[in-house]
Amino acid sequence: MGEDEQPDYVIPPGGGVPWMDLTDKEGHRPPERDIVITDVSSMTLQANFTWTIVKVETDAGITGIGEGRSSWDDLGLLEGQNPLDINRLRDIRGGLDDGVEMALWDIKGKVLDVPVYELLGGKYRDSVRIYCDTHGGEALGGAQSGTVDPREIYTPESYARAAREVVDEGFEALKFDLDVKTHADVDTAARRLDNEAIDHKVSLVEAVREEIGYEIDLGFDLHWNFTVETATRLAKRLEPFDLAWLEDPVPPRKYDAHRRVREATSVPILTGENLRDPGEFKQMLTAEGMDLAAPDLNNCGGIRNFVRIANLCDLEGVPVAAHNIRSPIATVAGAHASASIPNFVALEYHAREVPWWEDLVERTGESGSILEDGYVALPEGPGLGVEINPDVAAEHLIEGEELIF
Ligand SMILES: [Mg+2]
Repeated sequence: MGEDEQPDYVIPPGGGVPWMDLTDKEGHRPPERDIVITDVSSMTLQANFTWTIVKVETDAGITGIGEGRSSWDDLGLLEGQNPLDINRLRDIRGGLDDGVEMALWDIKGKVLDVPVYELLGGKYRDSVRIYCDTHGGEALGGAQSGTVDPREIYTPESYARAAREVVDEGFEALKFDLDVKTHADVDTAARRLDNEAIDHKVSLVEAVREEIGYEIDLGFDLHWNFTVETATRLAKRLEPFDLAWLEDPVPPRKYDAHRRVREATSVPILTGENLRDPGEFKQMLTAEGMDLAAPDLNNCGGIRNFVRIANLCDLEGVPVAAHNIRSPIATVAGAHASASIPNFVALEYHAREVPWWEDLVERTGESGSILEDGYVALPEGPGLGVEINPDVAAEHLIEGEELIF
């Protein structure tokens, strides 16, 4: 190879082996597994976030469903590839969309007639504990625009009331935002809280614990907003409330900053929803920057990388409380992945304000809702074990999108 020539492969993000194209090679699988991808399409729904649903089609008539971060309608290098080679296709140059990867697992389960958790080595648990993202306060717009004193919105009473509702719905674990505004004119760029602001946040946490007691796992999210000194001052004040975790105290990928907060407080530190692959989790583990890890399979590289990350964490004694803001499709995929790892705490549910969340899918060959009493019972149908309800999807398509199911 001359100096100007480049190899025709790219090492995928996070390492791994160069991607190989087997399209033109003779198939060595038996005919029923010698299948190829024929089309990829997606549609985006408007919920509390946008949800992008992906469909992958094959020449065997088996269709896979997934959920990704953005539209993916380009068949590209996937054309003619065997969808069962998930790991090899995951290493495709530029990275395979997480929703497409999820759909490949769905196809593989359907081809082999087993649920996805069986493909991941089986299950540690029959049902997966969910933690509920919970919001105190009302009239969010008023607080954000500065027309109302935020302390009149984010009151201890509103936090306690919301916590009571969620616990009464059957959840054993919940999380609130704690980076809500305190002063209407606060300089957020400085990432610092004064003592009055810290007192207000402590009052919110105290009110929730007084309402629901100490048997419920209770986390609070700081959304990367603070400096080490402010996060530490706040965390130390929260120590008496025996929290399950304090989430994202400082900006993402500041590995040593996470370690400094963690070493300064007994409150467990959770982070990871912004980390993009196993390599970044390895850096956080090496820095000893987290007590719990929050991989999001729609951000960390899909089901395969989620499991790899969980395994890395398990080697270091770090449990997983998985991040998730998606529809029931990604939530069910998260449930399969979470059931297959030993070091699992809870999987997030972030759609309490979306009344049709449950209606978007149905279990394949089973009755019952997806989420019940704070748990997702693992689907036993092939693949992800859920099918989309096209009528419900059609009602919530964003403008210009076409129904693909
Ligand atoms: Mg978060």
